[in-house]
Amino acid sequence: MKRWKRWAALLLCALLLVPLWSAAAAESPKVWRGIDVSRWQGTVDWAKAKKAGVDFAVLRCFAYRKDTTFDANYAGATAQGIPVGADVYMYATTEQGAVQEAQATLDAIAGKPMTLPLFLDVEDSSIKTLGRSKLTDLMLIELAIFAAAGYPIGIYTSQSYVSSFMDASRLQNYDWWLARWTCYRTDANNKLFSFSDESPASAKKPDCAVWQFSNGGRGSAYGVGSTAVDLNFCYKDYFSAGPYTPNEHRYNVTVHPADCVNPGYLAMQCSHCGQQITKFYTPALGHTAPGADGTCGRCGLQLTDVQNGNLCPLCGQAHRGPLGILTLFVHRLLLWLKRSVI
Ligand SMILES: [Zn+2]
Ligand SMILES: [Zn+2]
Ligand SMILES: [Zn+2]
Repeated sequence: MKRWKRWAALLLCALLLVPLWSAAAAESPKVWRGIDVSRWQGTVDWAKAKKAGVDFAVLRCFAYRKDTTFDANYAGATAQGIPVGADVYMYATTEQGAVQEAQATLDAIAGKPMTLPLFLDVEDSSIKTLGRSKLTDLMLIELAIFAAAGYPIGIYTSQSYVSSFMDASRLQNYDWWLARWTCYRTDANNKLFSFSDESPASAKKPDCAVWQFSNGGRGSAYGVGSTAVDLNFCYKDYFSAGPYTPNEHRYNVTVHPADCVNPGYLAMQCSHCGQQITKFYTPALGHTAPGADGTCGRCGLQLTDVQNGNLCPLCGQAHRGPLGILTLFVHRLLLWLKRSVI
């Protein structure tokens, strides 16, 4: 009887400890240390970076043109077994510009498997003036094109840039790589930093997958040609799964901007296999306030018809009379079929 009690007590203890142990494991995630580089960092000695404890690197692949160091950095880092991701520095100010920037980026990185996402780098002052909704539209166009090509995607920026210039509510499905510098290169002593200067578990970490905590890592310590290098902690495990391979579709993209009643979308068709996909990137604009004649300033519809629900959702006209009711029915059916196909 005593022995039975002892075993029961042990079992009970074990059962009580299991959840405690799992909770403790969940509270201390692994943190990966990484640098991000572009042509401004000059030539990188990736063997030295590896020895210095660099777990990953994000390589600038495109900024108005292909980054001149991208291919060499990709070859050097992967030869050392350092997992890489890429970032594209956004300059696009129009829908068409966003399509071109995204497609040129895909050309720049084609044939190079990566482990971390393709990050859209949104920080330039020239695109701040676009306004929240336009900038967010253009970001979503580029992100949709990257996603269609099979890349995991993320957004690089700072928390203040998000809150001042983006509509974050429309960007919730993406991984964030956020700059919040707690170690500035340009402090009073122009000090240079290392990963040990900031705790990965710091309360100053923004809510993100990757945190860029310094722009002032000591370049020479990490094999980087420039004086300073950006330092990052990654909190999301992109690494266990190993490198991903994007798909082989190559889409031609036509932008259909939003109007009063239709959302903006991209019609994409693969030039290899003909596959067609549609990606919505912005909601319908809605009608303007009625003008003196009661019509919408953008599309010219009589807004009393709109308010009374008299407008056909397919052609936007007010179908009247017995024939009109039939036409409306047929148009609703056509619309339903069209939406099912998309
Ligand atoms: Zn295809
Ligand atoms: Zn309208
Ligand atoms: Zn109609």
